[in-house]
This record gives sequence, C-alpha cells and structure tokens, in this order.
Amino acid sequence: MTKIVIVGAGYAGMAAAAHLDKAGTPFTIVNNHDYHYLTTLLHEAAGGRGPGSNYQVPIKEVLRQDSSELVVDQITGIDRNKKVVVGQAGEYAYDYLIYGLGWVSEYFGIKGLKENSLSITNLDSAVGIREHIENEFKAYVKDGDKRHLRIALGGAGLTGIELMGELLEYLPQLCKSLDIPFSEVDVQCIEAMPTILPMVAPHLRPYVAETLTKKGGKLRTNTKIMEVTPGVVHLDGGETVEAGTIVWTGGVRANPLLTEAGFTVDRRGRGKVNSFLQSADDDHIFIVGDSAWAEDENGKPFPPTAQMAEQMGALAAHNLLAQLNRQPMKSFKPRNWGTLCSLGSEVGVGDAFGVPIKGVTAALAKEGSKAKYLWELGGMRLAGNRTKQMMRI
Ligand code: FAD
Ligand code: NAD
Repeated sequence: MTKIVIVGAGYAGMAAAAHLDKAGTPFTIVNNHDYHYLTTLLHEAAGGRGPGSNYQVPIKEVLRQDSSELVVDQITGIDRNKKVVVGQAGEYAYDYLIYGLGWVSEYFGIKGLKENSLSITNLDSAVGIREHIENEFKAYVKDGDKRHLRIALGGAGLTGIELMGELLEYLPQLCKSLDIPFSEVDVQCIEAMPTILPMVAPHLRPYVAETLTKKGGKLRTNTKIMEVTPGVVHLDGGETVEAGTIVWTGGVRANPLLTEAGFTVDRRGRGKVNSFLQSADDDHIFIVGDSAWAEDENGKPFPPTAQMAEQMGALAAHNLLAQLNRQPMKSFKPRNWGTLCSLGSEVGVGDAFGVPIKGVTAALAKEGSKAKYLWELGGMRLAGNRTKQMMRI
C-alpha cells in the first residue's frame, strides 16, 4: 500500500488531511499536538479574549475515518534518500509526503531580540503572553514599578495591530480587577516603516490609528528596533523603551527544517515548488502553507496566509490522489477573499473581495470568516459547536 505521510496539522496540513479523509485514502498525520490550533485567532488568546481551549480543535474530531492515523511527535528532520521523516519518538517512512510545518518568527539577526522578547508562534506561546502580562501587572501592585505596566510591540503589521486591539480591550478589565488606574498603562506599537498596516488600503489607516489611540494605545512609525536587552528595547536614534512585556510581531519565515534538509529555499526559508505544489527537489514531496515558495504566473510569491495555506493543502491532496490514479494534476490558482484586521472584538478594517470595509461590518465579516473556516474543515458539527464556544453564546 502507498504510504502517505502529512507533517504539520496547521491550516495546510489539516486541509490536506480532511481531503484525504473524505476520499477514504489511508494516511498518517504527524503533529506536535493532538489538536489543531487556530493561528488566525491567536492574538485573541494572547490578548485575553478567551481561554486557550477556545482556539483548539482535536484533530480526531475532524478526521473521522479509521483509515487515518494520528501520531503526536516533534519532527526533527527529513531524510530524502531514505524517504523517512525523523521525529523525536520515531521515524515515519513515506512514498508521498505532504510537508506543512508552517512558520517561525523572523528576527532579522537583531541582537538580543529572540532571547528577550515573547512572540505569538503557537497556542502555548499566545496564552503565555497573556499570563506574562497578568503577572507583570500583579508585580506592579506589589512594587509600584511602572515598567511592569509598559507593553512594547515590535512591528505594526497585521499581527501587531490585531494584538494591540485585543490588549486595549482587555487591559482596562485587568486593571479594574487589580485596582490599577488604566491611565498608568502604556501600550506602544513600534514600526520601522513610515506607515502601519501596508497591506490595508491607505484611506483606512487613519481609522485604525484613531481607534487604537482613542483607547489609549501609542502607534510609533519610522522607528526601528535595533537591539533588545532584558526588559529594554533599543531604538534607532539611541532612545530606549523599558518594558515589562516585549512582544515581537515583526515578521515570519518558514520552519527551518526545509533549509536543514537541503531543499531549495528562498530568503525566508520557504521550499520551492512547481505549480502543482511539488517540491522542486523531489516530486514525491508536496510543500504547502507558509513553508512553500509558490509563485503566481508573474513570478510573484504567494503571501504566507491561512487562506493560501488551506487552498494549498487541499490542492496537494487532490494532486497526490491524481498522481496515484494517473489523472492530470491541477495548478495552484487560489481565490483571494480579502484581508480582515480586527481592532478588538467590535470593529475592524480590511477588504472583502477587494471592497474596503471598516467598523462593525469588518468585525462581522471576520466572525463570518471564522465560521466559514470551521464549516469547511468539519461541517456543521464543528462550525456550530466551536462558533458558539468562541462567541460565548
Ligand atoms: P501553521 O498553521 O503554523 O501549522 C503548522 C503546524 O505544524 C502546527 O500545528 C504546528 O504545531 C506544527 N509543527 C510545527 N513544527 C513542528 C514540528 N517540528 N514537529 C511537529 N509539528 C510541528 N492568515 C490569514 O489568511 N487570515 C488571518 O486572519 C490571519 N490571522 C493571523 C493572526 C495571527 C495572530 C497570526 C500569527 C497569523 C495570522 N495569519 C492569518 C497567518 C496564518 O496564521 C498562517 O499563514 C497560517 O497559520 C499558515 O498555515 P500553515 O499550515 O502553513 O502553518
Ligand atoms: P509582517 O511581516 O506582515 O509585518 C511585520 C511588521 O514589522 C512590518 O510592518 C515591518 O516593517 C515591521 N518591522 C520589521 N522589522 C522591524 C524593526 N526592526 N523595527 C520595527 N518594526 C519592524 O508580519 P505579521 O504581521 O506577523 O504577518 C505575517 C503574515 O501573517 C503576513 O502574511 C500576514 O498577512 C499574515 N497575517 C494575517 C493576518 C490577517 O489576515 N488578519 C493577521 C496576522 C498575520
């Protein structure tokens, strides 16, 4: 029997797994947790909107056929000659591999940044940010040192802005519970470029700035982070920001395993694939999601987003089955539904199919996109239950 292995149960890996599961094709999926977490909502978990359990889905709740096997293991390498994926607990032989181990933070070689900052890279690290902030605020109650109440976010892309929106909604409640005046809290988002949110229509950016500053946040543009030492962010121009909480939201790169295994990669470590999503180095390996260096007809790389990852995962599974059945494979031609950026739970900005939207409309569209994803993954059963849980119905 053909051995199919999927590594990574993120947006790409789960879409591939759900496709194979529906087809009744046997496969093994290896992931470092027995649950799939909703990365697109991790700013909510970090910002205190809901408990971590709201943002995870047991993998076996999605894969219902007995033909699929779930293995929980930490992958440490790929041996292409032996056709095995190597994990801490064992080796997984494959005839076909779908690789979807996602992304890690990009630190750009900035001194001390990795060691001295937090980041949203998985569910545990997101929940860890919320807990860290709560501990810092409790420490302020004990010693009165205002640095505990300062939060520095590095990078005003979508992750930095969505996290700031969540924090500015949650921190007044946290302050109330600890009897701290919210006016003492300093949340600043530090951006190197002249503007925040370059991927959002320019006329919507002032709305973002106004919404966040009205809630007490500070947005700093044209300000580059040069170094981070324990509790201190060093900016260009020599200024320093002393903060109890430093979160890096300055960019992503592919999981380093592809580079380590000798695949052809771009400057962000993503593995080169052809239009069918097969690795340029090995046509028995499909690379999907944020780890894939896939390009459109004009040679422009697709962005590392969940909506691309989901479509890649489903197509890789389809193409794998096509190969097995000697059918023609399909090229990756994704749909782009738009970009939505939440600013807390009530408002947001972005575009739906290219039409700019803001305010409550954007927040509702974002809620709709959550339900749509869960519906596609697990049908009514998953969409109904999880949406209720997340919306606290
Ligand atoms: P991932 O979702 O990261 O999945 C990788 C999986 O592999 C995970 O399950 C991980 O646990 C597992 N794994 C990793 N390393 C190992 C290992 N060594 N061994 C075993 N398992 C491993 N994109 C959008 O399109 N829309 C949004 O609204 C959006 N919001 C976002 C909000 C935030 C806060 C963040 C951080 C990102 C957001 N993105 C959004 C981007 C989106 O989350 C990513 O593009 C998407 O997660 C990529 O999917 P993936 O399957 O490639 O990787
Ligand atoms: P990003 O690369 O999009 O943004 C990082 C920001 O950090 C940039 O604006 C950059 O100029 C800034 N930066 C980099 N170095 C800096 C420095 N030294 N000092 C100060 N600022 C610095 O990263 P992201 O926001 O984490 O997004 C990663 C990917 O995930 C993107 O593809 C994004 O579209 C996707 N994403 C999507 C959503 C959404 O659709 N709602 C949310 C989060 C992330």
